[in-house]
Order: sequence, then C-alpha cells, then structure tokens
Amino acid sequence: MSLRFYDTRSRQVSDFTPLTEGCASLYLCGATVQAPPHIGHIRSSVNFDILRRWLAYRGYEVTFCRNITDIDDKILNVARAENVHWWAVAERNQRAFASAYDALGCLPPSVEPRATGHVPEMVELMRRLIDRGHAYPAQDGSGDVYFDVLSHSAYGELSGQRVDQMRGAGDTDSDGAKRDPRDFALWKGAKPGEPSWETPWGRGRPGWHLECSAMATKYLGSSFDIHGGGLDLVFPHHENELAQSRAAGDGFARYWMHNGLLTLGGEKMSKSLGNSLLISEMVRRVRPVELRYYLGQAHYRSALDYSEEALSEAASAYQRIEGFLTRAAELTGPVRPVSRVPDAFASALDDDLGVAQGLAIVHGHVRDGNTALGEGRKERAAELAAELRAMLAVLGLDPGAEPWAAEGDGAGLRDVVDALVSVALEERQSARARKDYAAADRIRDRLTAAGVTVEDTPNGPRWELRRG
Ligand SMILES: [Zn+2]
Repeated sequence: MSLRFYDTRSRQVSDFTPLTEGCASLYLCGATVQAPPHIGHIRSSVNFDILRRWLAYRGYEVTFCRNITDIDDKILNVARAENVHWWAVAERNQRAFASAYDALGCLPPSVEPRATGHVPEMVELMRRLIDRGHAYPAQDGSGDVYFDVLSHSAYGELSGQRVDQMRGAGDTDSDGAKRDPRDFALWKGAKPGEPSWETPWGRGRPGWHLECSAMATKYLGSSFDIHGGGLDLVFPHHENELAQSRAAGDGFARYWMHNGLLTLGGEKMSKSLGNSLLISEMVRRVRPVELRYYLGQAHYRSALDYSEEALSEAASAYQRIEGFLTRAAELTGPVRPVSRVPDAFASALDDDLGVAQGLAIVHGHVRDGNTALGEGRKERAAELAAELRAMLAVLGLDPGAEPWAAEGDGAGLRDVVDALVSVALEERQSARARKDYAAADRIRDRLTAAGVTVEDTPNGPRWELRRG
C-alpha cells in the first residue's frame, strides 16, 4: 500500500511520489520569534514531527528545513515597547522555542535557517522576479518592492480563490506605492530607527513571504517535496510563497500539507488566554510526554479545541499505556521494540497520517496486553508490548526511548525547566528595567503559581522548584 497525503493545492488525497527516489524533502514554516511558544505553535511541530518520523520509518531519507523569522513588525514592536534591541527579542524567544521543541520530543531539523542570514538570496529572487516582469520597486520611492499579482495568472491556486474577488493586501499605508492594491510586499523600505539591509532598490528589510521562498529553495532546491504549516498560513503567506517562486521559474513545493488549528472554546487562541497556554506553563501541569500525546492524538487536519478535561484525559490515556509497559516489563523482563509496526497501524499512517486510527490500535494492544497479563500469558504480553513500543516510537511517544527515558531521574527534565524558567526571568528583568513593576510582579506570580519560587539576590534572581 502506498503512502498518500491530502494536498491543499489539488484538494485531494494523492500518492506521495518523491522527486528523488528514497528521499523526502520537507519545508515547515517555523516561528516568528516575537513571543515564547504556546501550545498552538507546538501542535504544528508535533504533527510534522510525526510526519517526519513516519517518512523515515517508510525508508525515506528526510531533509527537513524549518526556518526562523527573526525580523518582523511584531518583533520590532516588542523591542520598542521594552526598549531593547530587536535581535535580543528574537534571540530570547528563539531559545524558548528551541527548549519547547526539545521538551516535546520534536527531532531537530536538518537545517534551521534564519531570515536575516539570507538577504543575498532574497535580493537574487527579487532580481529574477523584476527581470521577468513579476515584481517592481514601489512607485512612491519608499524602497518597498512589490509582487505584481495580475502578472501571475495562477495566483489564488493554493487557497482556491479568484483574483477578481480578492481584497487588497493591506500591507502599505501609501496609496501611490502599488500598481494594484492586491500586490503584496516582497521587501519593505527602510524606516528611521529600524534595521535595514542594502539592495539595488534601496535599503530595507525582508518581507515575510519572500524569506520562506528564498530559504526553502536554498536548502531544498528549486523543486522539493512537501511544504507544511498551519491552516492559517494558506492565505496569504503560502499563496504568496508559491506565486513568487513559480513566477521566478522554480517548481517549488509539490505537496502542500496544513495542520488544523488549536482553538479555545471554538475560537482562535487570543493573546490573553494564550498566556496560560505557554509551553513553559503547560509542562508543569502535565508531563511533556503527556502534552505531546495530547497535541498529537487528533488527525493533523482537524481542529483541536483545548480544554483542561481533554488534556487530563490524554494524560490518563498515556499513563494507561505506560502502566501496561511497566507491568509487562516487571513480569516478563525488559521488552525491546520490534522493527516492524503492525500492518493495521502502518495502513492507518500511510493513509494521510491517520494517527487517531493508529492510536486505536495502540490502545487495543494495551487492552489485549493487560488481559494477557491477567491470564498469565507472559509471552503474548511481551509480544504485544514489543509491538506497542514500535508504534509509540513512530509517534515519538515510546517511554523507553529518548528523551522520555531520561525523565525518570529528572535529569533531562531539569535542564529543560531551567531553560524555560530563564526565559521568563529575562522577561521579568526587562520589565523591571523599564520600571514596569506590575508586569514584573505578574511574571513572578505566574511562576509562583506554577511552583517556582523566585528570590532576588545581589547576583540576580535565583529560582527553585517548590517540593511536594
Ligand atoms: Zn513561511
């Protein structure tokens, strides 16, 4: 049976045929590092980590590129509000994302390029677009460079929209800059006090869409296999990436995969509610592996509505799996995973990554395994446990494998908690530095509520985990 995925552009499930036999190239839009990650961000990472693991299980050599957007209006706004350098904001939050990916067991990408390190590639892409008549420098002399939407007849193909029904891109305040309001910015002309880079069309900084096209093709080639991201990125971000690259003559992504969004009470997470759902907070409420189980359990394309009940149900479900594996190991001796997952599990994952169906088989094994243990059929229990571990490994949930195996003595987890608390303390320090004591106190209160006691010393803040 072949591996197949739902492709957003063709709107159908189709067989996965890689560009190069035995290889799979994957680009995932990574974080815009203006704030620390919440579980909505990390759901996408977990979904695509499972995809990557499944491709590897199916024998593909995976090249996985996930970018970091380290320059953006939102980063500049945070830097202005805190009166710190823009790159300090990016650096701090990038570390928070890296800690969160590690904490949740997401394998590191093959390459993790940053936007500001790829300006020459972006300038070259703009040059190709201008030469081919698909882009132009702003008509008002602002230094912006725009993509000419009407010059590219396929525009709208990814999101399934007709150009004549689209509204303006809304990315400039100047009426005279564009040929058409639907044209979108490839590059933003320099503004006083903002970072900027030299180009043939004046100083400025990268637009978000251009970055991804430049970085994806630099590392994966002018054509590559899969482009992933959250459903909220289909338009305009991915539509624009596709338009730029195709208009420049690149094949670009052959399959487009999008994960469903994490909602709260049916709505997109708002910033205020989102704060309590920061990864740094969540990993104190449940163990990271339980959070991963929760975020990865639904089909990647379905919406996941967050609730405390659903989270604790997921934690209990994972504990049932662990419980069986522990009892089986106690009674039958150590169990090693088999090299092949059960056929039914493989078919479920081959079919557009059917993790929910795969987990039904996982839990079937747990039930049958517990029955076998109860009846004293040790061999059968050991067999089921070995298959179970193989399936869990593909989902990144095998309690006997890294990073979870190190969790028992708390050593691995301590480093992760340390990194996440440091990020919160840095934010508190910068709040104090700008004399926003209310914000500083709020951060300390939240840490206290999560069991972290902060003490200010002449050498800076110290923290410890409250016991019991
Ligand atoms: Zn992107």
